[in-house]
Amino acid sequence: MVSEAPAKQKAGKKRGFIEVREDECKGCGCCVADCPLGLLQLAEKLNRMGYHPVEYKGEGCIACGICFYSCPEPGAITVYMLEEGE
Ligand code: SF4
Ligand code: SF4
Repeated sequence: MVSEAPAKQKAGKKRGFIEVREDECKGCGCCVADCPLGLLQLAEKLNRMGYHPVEYKGEGCIACGICFYSCPEPGAITVYMLEEGE
């Protein structure tokens, strides 16, 4: 899902963050390969299904949504858009 964060809206530079439901992730690596900024990586740990889940490196997301659209697992990735100052 690509969602706006539940916060006040301001004009400004686009940025965001993502959340991963790690037990929905199959560790295919599509989003890792497709993020244009290289912000995703597969974790060393295993999830409940025995896959290495993707993890966000923690900053720099521009909320482009590419990882969401490249993911074959509905609900594994949620992208949030923020505005400058949030
Ligand atoms: S929304 Fe875009 S910039 Fe952010 S993690 Fe996904 S692919 Fe990378
Ligand atoms: S594309 Fe989806 S299933 Fe594949 S590693 Fe990324 S979050 Fe996991």
